[in-house]
Amino acid sequence: MLDRSAVDILLLDDEPFILKLHARMLSDLGFGSSRAFESGALALADLNRGPDPHLILLDLSMPGMDGIQFIKHLVQRNYAGGLVLVSGEDKRLLQTAARLVAAHGLAVVGHLAKPVTPAQLRPLLEEWERGSGGTRRHPGKLYTREEIEAGIRNQEMVTHYQPKISIKTGEVVGVESLTRWQHPMDGLVLPGLFIGIAERSGLIEELTWLTMNQALTDRTDLARAGCPLQVSINVSASLLTSLEFPGLAAAATLRASAVPQDIVFEVTESEFIADPRAPLEVLTRLRLMRFGLSIDDFGTGYSSLSQLRDIPFGELKIDQSFVHLASSDATARAIYDASLGLAKNLNMKTVAEGVEDRPDWDLVRSTECDEAQGYLIARPMPVSDLPGWKEHWLTRRKTEFGFA
Ligand code: C2E
Ligand code: CA
Ligand code: CA
Repeated sequence: MLDRSAVDILLLDDEPFILKLHARMLSDLGFGSSRAFESGALALADLNRGPDPHLILLDLSMPGMDGIQFIKHLVQRNYAGGLVLVSGEDKRLLQTAARLVAAHGLAVVGHLAKPVTPAQLRPLLEEWERGSGGTRRHPGKLYTREEIEAGIRNQEMVTHYQPKISIKTGEVVGVESLTRWQHPMDGLVLPGLFIGIAERSGLIEELTWLTMNQALTDRTDLARAGCPLQVSINVSASLLTSLEFPGLAAAATLRASAVPQDIVFEVTESEFIADPRAPLEVLTRLRLMRFGLSIDDFGTGYSSLSQLRDIPFGELKIDQSFVHLASSDATARAIYDASLGLAKNLNMKTVAEGVEDRPDWDLVRSTECDEAQGYLIARPMPVSDLPGWKEHWLTRRKTEFGFA
C-alpha cells in the first residue's frame, strides 16, 4: 500500500479558492504535501527547481498559459507522473487535451468536472494508487516500439481519408490522410495511441513514408477513377529537420505520377519552436517545389506571428476546439475570428477543423472561412468508400446544406 503522506502532488488552477479547496480535499484523504500554483508559468518554474511530482491536478482553462499549453510543456519534459484533468463545462477542451495527452503517451489518471467533490476525487485517486501510483511510471496500455515496428512490418498500418469541402460552394476540395493501425487483437487503433510513441522512438520517419506512399498511390487511383482530389499528409516536425526531405518527397510524388500541387503537407508549428532553422529551409524548399503547406491545429500552440510570417504556409487550419466552442464561448470566438483575420492578411486559405454539428456549420458559414472538415461532413474512411461518399454528398449538400 502506498504511503499517501509521501505522495507529492502539484495543483494548478487560476482560481486561488479552487486551489485551497483541492488542497483541503487531498489532505482530508490523507495525502501529504501538495504545492499549489495560480499560473502555468509559476508551476513550470517550480518544476524546473526539483523532481517532478507524482501527480498533477491541472485546470484546463486558465488565462495566459492554458492547460493545453501546459501539457505541451509536460510532454517536452517527458513528465512521467500522473495527470488529472480538471475542466469546466467545455467538453471539447477536455477532448483536445485527452487527445494531446494520449498522443504523447502521458499517463492520464482521469478527468474531473468542476466543481470537484471528494466523492469524485476519491475513486480516481484509489484507481491511480492501484495502478502505478507513486512510481512515476506510465500505467495502462501503451504500445511499445517493438509492437509498432511489428505492425509496420506486418503491413497493419492503413490510411483513411477525411474530406474537406468548400464552405462557399459545398464542393469537395481535398482529403486529409489519417493513419490507423489495423491491430490483429485490438481492432482499429487511432493514431493518438501510437504516433507519439513512434515519434519518440525513431519510427515516425518510416511510418510517414509509408503513409505518404500509400496516399500518393490512392490519389492516383482515385484520379484515374474520375475522382481527382488534393491529398493532405500530416508530417511530424522531426522529418522537417532533414534537408533530404524535399528531394525525397519530390521523387515519391513523381513516381506516383502526381505533381507537387496535388499534395499538401500539414505541420504543427509549435513542434519545431526549439530550433526552426532546418525546418525553415525544408519548408521553403517544399514551397518552391509547389507543394502545399498547411499549419495545423492553429491556436493551440505557440504559433507566433513571426514564424507565420517567415514560413510560406498557404493554408491555416483552425483547431477544432476553437471551431466547436466559437458558437457558445466568446474567447474561443475571438481566437477563431483573429485566426481568420490573420490568415486573410497573410493571404492564406483557412480551414475550420472539427465541424461536428449544425451550430458549428452555421458558425463557419457565417464567417469568411474557406473550407470545412469534420464529422458533420464525413468521418475518416477507407479510400474505397470515397467515391460512394462523394456521390451521396452531392445529394446531401443540396438537401441538407442548401447549396444549389
Ligand atoms: P489532426 O491532424 O488534427 O487530424 C484531425 C483529427 O480530428 C483526426 O483524428 C480526425 O479523425 C478528428 N476529427 C475530424 N473531424 C472531427 C470532428 O468533427 N470532431 C471531432 N471530435 N474530431 C474530428 P485522428 O485520426 O485520431 O488523428 C489524430 C492526430 O494524429 C491527427 O490530428 C494528426 O496530428 C495525427 N496523425 C494522424 N495520422 C498521422 C500521420 O500519418 N502522421 C503523423 N505524423 N501524424 C498523424
Ligand atoms: Ca492534420
Ligand atoms: Ca488538426
